[in-house]
Amino acid sequence: MKNPYLLAIAACALIGVPTIARASRAEVTATRMQLVGEIQQKLNRSFQCNFSVFLGQTLRYATANSSGVIMIDRSFLLTADRSTIFFAMAHEYAHAYLQHDIRLYGQIQQSSKKSADMRRAFEKEADGIAARKAKQMGFDIESIIAFILSRHDPEKSVPSEYRVHSRPQERADYILAVYRSS
Ligand SMILES: [Zn+2]
Repeated sequence: MKNPYLLAIAACALIGVPTIARASRAEVTATRMQLVGEIQQKLNRSFQCNFSVFLGQTLRYATANSSGVIMIDRSFLLTADRSTIFFAMAHEYAHAYLQHDIRLYGQIQQSSKKSADMRRAFEKEADGIAARKAKQMGFDIESIIAFILSRHDPEKSVPSEYRVHSRPQERADYILAVYRSS
């Protein structure tokens, strides 16, 4: 065969792959939104709150504010597995529940070193809570750890004392330790 690649493209065009691809993406979104709804119910019950969860475009995997609005990034939702989605949501629930944004805002006058310390402590606190919830609710830790270790570290060149998250390996070790000891 001279060019199997071209032949494959032609065959795909014949059976209408683009249409199928669009349909399955919508299907994936619907299934994922159902998963998000289930996790939301579990977390609302566990935190005894009534937070809202939206799908959007964020520069991170998910965001939260203390009025109880959680936003999950669309592309993260479509590519991550269920345990990782759970972990990201539980982490944001912890930030919202503990009103980390308001507490951080109150410290804005502090030196940048002090506010970096505080942000790092809040991130660690949210990771610890999410790890405990993952254990309680039966979510797999291995894929969460693999996800953290496989991502590009956006703070790679930031000195440790100014980082928001600790280095990926340290972060993964902490999450694993909390999970195992819960
Ligand atoms: Zn966070």
